Amino acid sequence: MDSQKKYPQHISFEFFPPKTEEGDKKLLQTATQLTKLNPHYFSVTFGAGGSTRDRTFDTVLSLAKATGIPLAPHLSCIGSSKAQLLELLNQYRENQIDRLVALRGDRPSGDVAKGELNFAYELVQFVREQTADHFHIEVAAYPEFHPEAVNPQADIDNLKRKFDAGANSAITQYFYNAEAYYRLIDACEANQIEMPIVPGIMPIMNFTQLSRFSAACGAEIPMWLSKRLAAYGDDKESLQAFGIEVVSDLCNQLLSAGCPGLHFYSMNQALIVEQVCNNLHLPHKST
Ligand code: FAD
Repeated sequence: MDSQKKYPQHISFEFFPPKTEEGDKKLLQTATQLTKLNPHYFSVTFGAGGSTRDRTFDTVLSLAKATGIPLAPHLSCIGSSKAQLLELLNQYRENQIDRLVALRGDRPSGDVAKGELNFAYELVQFVREQTADHFHIEVAAYPEFHPEAVNPQADIDNLKRKFDAGANSAITQYFYNAEAYYRLIDACEANQIEMPIVPGIMPIMNFTQLSRFSAACGAEIPMWLSKRLAAYGDDKESLQAFGIEVVSDLCNQLLSAGCPGLHFYSMNQALIVEQVCNNLHLPHKST
């Protein structure tokens, strides 16, 4: 973990672009609430195959204006042409957005154009070629390995390619086993990657939804946790209280080990991530 200890411990929150006006209003309230925790930035996801291209852009601009917090739009290359990607990059630049989360993207369902870039490292190369150092670029990292990686070393080689292409830091897929993150950092150090790798933290709000996400993205819910969560059945309040305890413990372990901050998958909800953050020993936590 030594390579990570030189970086400041920031927090950031991820949102998805809402589909309705009501969702927009709720997100604005959520972001306003989370602004009090003094986040380093907010990020906004990009739907599979570019399906939320306009909504991501609009959400980024409206949150930047309303909160004054730096915004990091996610941008994925699957399903977008180079011309479409460049148009978006230029629009973000014109609107003083200077962070990006660069991804290959989830494969969209249905018959959607593949795009001209196949992997995230090619997108990072493209962004650097077109916009030099304008953007601070985050990429994705996988403590429990990307489901399509042919083996663990291939996953690290891929992360290294993204940094070699010009990424500044990485955010991980979520995990509930801190050891998986420590081992990722050890593997990075063994492969001369010393850039910040920020743990992605998924709050526990709903067991069915979490199980579905985890099956899709390859993140493990450990057996002890899965059994405890299943036992709450319909008792959402007790499940969430237990989830806050588990996730706060995980975050405190990671912070004590020296991780460079935490990135919360907020699911556009403030309450639970806020309670987790209040349980953390963060140097810049609002008092
Ligand atoms: P890549 O880094 O390109 O890797 C994808 C796979 O290809 C890996 O298995 C890698 O080992 C393999 N690979 C890479 N290069 C090669 C090569 N040359 N030859 C063979 N194999 C290769 N998805 C969205 O659609 N929208 C989002 O907003 C979004 N946000 C995310 C945010 C975070 C923090 C994370 C962790 C994930 C996010 N995802 C998002 C999901 C992500 O798009 C998927 O996990 C996707 O399957 C992989 O994206 P990547 O950027 O990691 O791809």
